[in-house]
Amino acid sequence: MEREGRRRRVACTILAIDDTDMFYRVCAVCERTISTPTCCLCGSSTKRLFRILMSVATDSAVLTVVCFDRVARLLFGCSADEFFHFVKLHPFSGLTLNEVLEGEMFTMTLSKPMNANAQHTRVASAVPLSSVFRPAIHLLKQCYGLPHAS
Ligand SMILES: [Zn+2]
Repeated sequence: MEREGRRRRVACTILAIDDTDMFYRVCAVCERTISTPTCCLCGSSTKRLFRILMSVATDSAVLTVVCFDRVARLLFGCSADEFFHFVKLHPFSGLTLNEVLEGEMFTMTLSKPMNANAQHTRVASAVPLSSVFRPAIHLLKQCYGLPHAS
């Protein structure tokens, strides 16, 4: 285990992904987190970003970690909006998502939350250990027999 300040790099296996709450909304322009349909500051519409809670196993512990948009996009292979619409069309894709990602191994850089309100260790980066790793959306499309699954 390699430590760099409050960050550490560990080999992790994905155990489960909380597929019930994967997104939050921000303003498409100023990127403030908002819960209204349009941004109250600049009036722009919103977009979704990923915020994924998952449990991972290291060689010594099981941790609940949170994965924000930049890292989640690598795992999922698409934008949060695209994934949201896919899930809406395929109601069981949350389950399938767990099936396709469970057991995948990554070298993850985990960083301790800077502020006391953030409860979960966050994933600063995730590099798949398998050279044949394919992002979840490709595997899901394949499971559902959709064209353009590459
Ligand atoms: Zn705005």
